[in-house]
Amino acid sequence: MGTLEGKVVKPLPKTGISVDEIKAQLDKIELRDPYAHFARAFRGPKDVQEVAKLAFERFISDNGFFSMYLPYMQSIEQEVIAMGVSLLHPEKNSTGNFTSGGTESNFSGLHAAKEWAKVHKPKAKKPNIVAPFTIHPSFQKGAQYLDIELITTDLDENGRGVAKNIAAAINEDTIMIAASAPTWHFGRIDPIPEIAAVAKDAGLWMHVDACVGGYLSPFLEKLGEKLTPWDFRVPGVMSISADLHKYGYCLKPASTIYWRDAELQKYHYVAIEDHFLGTYKLAGFSGSRSAGPIFAAWAVMSYLGEEGYLRLTRRLLELKKKLTAGVNAIEGLRMWDVDVMPLHFQSHKAPTAAVYQGLLDKGWIMLGLVNPEAITIPIDPGFSDEAADLFLKDLRDATEKILAGGEAKKGDIRYS
Ligand SMILES: *Cc1c(COP(=O)(O)O)cnc(C)c1O
Repeated sequence: MGTLEGKVVKPLPKTGISVDEIKAQLDKIELRDPYAHFARAFRGPKDVQEVAKLAFERFISDNGFFSMYLPYMQSIEQEVIAMGVSLLHPEKNSTGNFTSGGTESNFSGLHAAKEWAKVHKPKAKKPNIVAPFTIHPSFQKGAQYLDIELITTDLDENGRGVAKNIAAAINEDTIMIAASAPTWHFGRIDPIPEIAAVAKDAGLWMHVDACVGGYLSPFLEKLGEKLTPWDFRVPGVMSISADLHKYGYCLKPASTIYWRDAELQKYHYVAIEDHFLGTYKLAGFSGSRSAGPIFAAWAVMSYLGEEGYLRLTRRLLELKKKLTAGVNAIEGLRMWDVDVMPLHFQSHKAPTAAVYQGLLDKGWIMLGLVNPEAITIPIDPGFSDEAADLFLKDLRDATEKILAGGEAKKGDIRYS
């Protein structure tokens, strides 16, 4: 018997158990909707989930390892990339790669910038990147893997990055500037045009992390929302990460990294030559992987089309309005203003961590922010009005109870 984080675990059984027993055990584990809705974000409505599942299941055992080589798979992956990049005001040679998530997309941006810098910034001996304080932790993680230093800069009073702070932090070892459109932290779009201008002036790689907004902001704009430009419209933006498994409503793991020009994509690829396996060159970081997510992404994007995404975006705005009004109507709670998503709210009478614990006690699985303390609502258009009403009722109950009762247990707010 082995142990896993101190717990005794069972060895592989001598004989297997029946399918019915498997189901019974899984039934015991499975989380309940709508309480687990936010932990399952961002699925989209039932019909979208069905389409995704259908394609995923059909290609679940096909190996994405071959996505650059087997024509049937390559063309589907390329169609996903073409559909995605078409939303970003691309240039003629803009292109991209399919990845396993925002973490890999951002890692790919960092890696390509590091390779590019060997040619374009040969004096940078100890490469660093500069980004606003709210840059996603996947940058810290990627930077650590790649031995790049990450320098973060102060925000303005609305939670957005500040171009002049970034300009001031650049030094001769800087290779890249990264900023977010929007940040997960505040749902705010950094001033990308100003920040990209700093990058352009300094001859640096500019990456935009649009993981959460990449497949939402284009449709918000088409519906008339005025957003700060953040995509390839903005001179100087060289790469953009955008998560299909967030507001693209595709099945995890699925994300994309886009390159302004195919010339930049060359820095992404790693080819191991003269290996006993021959030349080993794959689409990205992973080796063998399920092709299910690629086919599911193709199916969802093709099924929805622009019209479908616009419909879901309208629904999202409706939900945002309902939840904002509902949260703000509860004494002591205030929803933050966001440019895009996700939603966050804070409690200014009871401690936010106590309200968070109150929601956990009601059975909701919630995410939050630690600094400053806030509770995150990662809604998607699959969240029904009934679910929203139940959530608001539970939130009101929990908050009123704390305000009435003095001491309350504070939860351990977590993002992950
Ligand atoms: C979600 C997110 C990421 C990381 O994405 P994963 O898919 O969890 O790896 C990166 N940046 C932002 C802004 C995000 O919202």
